[in-house]
Amino acid sequence: MDAAEYLRKSRMEEGMDTEEVLSKHRSALAKFAAEHDIHIIETFKEVVSGESLYARPEMLRLLQDVEEGRFDAVLVMDLDRLSRGRMKDQGIILDAFRDSGTLIVTPEHTYDLSDDLDDEMAEFKTFMSRREYKIINKRLRRGLTQTIEAGCYVANAPYGYRKVYVDRRPTLEIVEEEAKYVRMMYDMYVDGYGCISIARYINSLGARPRRCDAFNRTTVAGILKNPTYIGKVVWNQKKHIKKGAKGNPKHITIYQPREKWTIVDGLHPAIISRDQYDRVQAIMGQRYIPPSNDGTIRSPLAGLVRCTKCGKNMQRMGANKGVAYLLCNTKGCCAGAKFDLVEQAVLSQLSRVLVQLTLEKPAAPVKSAAGYAEARLTAIQKELAAAETQKNRLYDLLEQGVYDVPTFRERMDAVKARLSALEKEAGQIHRDLDDARQADPTSLAAKISAVLDTYDSSDAAHRNALLRSVIRTIWYTKEKKTKPADFDLQIDLVPY
Ligand SMILES: [Zn+2]
Repeated sequence: MDAAEYLRKSRMEEGMDTEEVLSKHRSALAKFAAEHDIHIIETFKEVVSGESLYARPEMLRLLQDVEEGRFDAVLVMDLDRLSRGRMKDQGIILDAFRDSGTLIVTPEHTYDLSDDLDDEMAEFKTFMSRREYKIINKRLRRGLTQTIEAGCYVANAPYGYRKVYVDRRPTLEIVEEEAKYVRMMYDMYVDGYGCISIARYINSLGARPRRCDAFNRTTVAGILKNPTYIGKVVWNQKKHIKKGAKGNPKHITIYQPREKWTIVDGLHPAIISRDQYDRVQAIMGQRYIPPSNDGTIRSPLAGLVRCTKCGKNMQRMGANKGVAYLLCNTKGCCAGAKFDLVEQAVLSQLSRVLVQLTLEKPAAPVKSAAGYAEARLTAIQKELAAAETQKNRLYDLLEQGVYDVPTFRERMDAVKARLSALEKEAGQIHRDLDDARQADPTSLAAKISAVLDTYDSSDAAHRNALLRSVIRTIWYTKEKKTKPADFDLQIDLVPY
């Protein structure tokens, strides 16, 4: 393999003697090249340390040669030396390698940018170095001189495998220290353990996943579902929309649903037998995971309690961990309280309201007022009938010649005025009676006492319905660092 080597100081080595650093790298790369049958046919040594691509003459020269396909690979200490700098410049560099199919070889990894996975990885690393640069800048501005830990780079082979190149084609090789845990996960799952128990056990044995500190449900489930372990290669697991394509400003990765994956036989060795894999998939398909929210009301106070401070609905949390709390959804807003305490407080406030309503209830004024109104209505009906008779008699008297026309008109107007006054009074009494019936506090008191009577024997959903029949909103207030029951509830009853 014919390669060029590109030497450049990293940001960490700034301030050190350039010649000394670069010659150290050169001997390291020479050793690596000899071990891996790589012939270095040209050396590009960047002495100027410009941030912009155009301030890096050696890089420009190298890119030109890469574009012409002069080398099979370019050897660098790490990707960061090559691509560090402005985002636009990084794009130009990555494109040159991708389009010419030139490999980027670092002692840590070989990048084939025409290979989708490595392409993704290179962009990730570029991003990382960019981020690192931002962090360093920030720290420098703050006057801090901490060194940055070397970035923990993602390896693209799944857990249990390492990526190797056979005839320049990437394939996977089993990493036995990891593969034994993969087998353990499959065995335990078939034995009936869940992903969380498996994760806990594997972690206790000292196993560490690549991308995070410890195995969890998601990482274990991911391994149990990955067909790579039976020697398959999965394509179309992710869909990429390349930067620049369709006017896209960013590279977008879309995770496809399982039915859209293409699973083909790979060249790599399996860790798990097809039989074992199928058994795990079958169990996974059966295992029922109860949904956390199936629309059933589990909190008697659901939708009723609101935080006075921010106005948002308060949520019941932690019911599955033993003690349920009522908490405000706004972070750092009011202090929460034990759910039971709030529920009890609501009920005792309701019983106080009930006592008050009963005490306030006047002896029988409503009834007597209604009785008076009804009596008056009866009287009005009689007067109306009398006025009607009188009206008819006026016609008779006119016909008989007792009244002349002007006298008739005068009397008729008087009767009509009387009739309309009576009708008006009757209408008013009807309206008053309706209001009196609606304002009858006995109906609310009756509802509240029904709530209190049946509350304890009802389930959560029914309790919620009972409370909603009398309460519109419960306003909750609790200052921080106060006693558990030191909350204030203001109950808005439904309008009656
Ligand atoms: Zn709040």
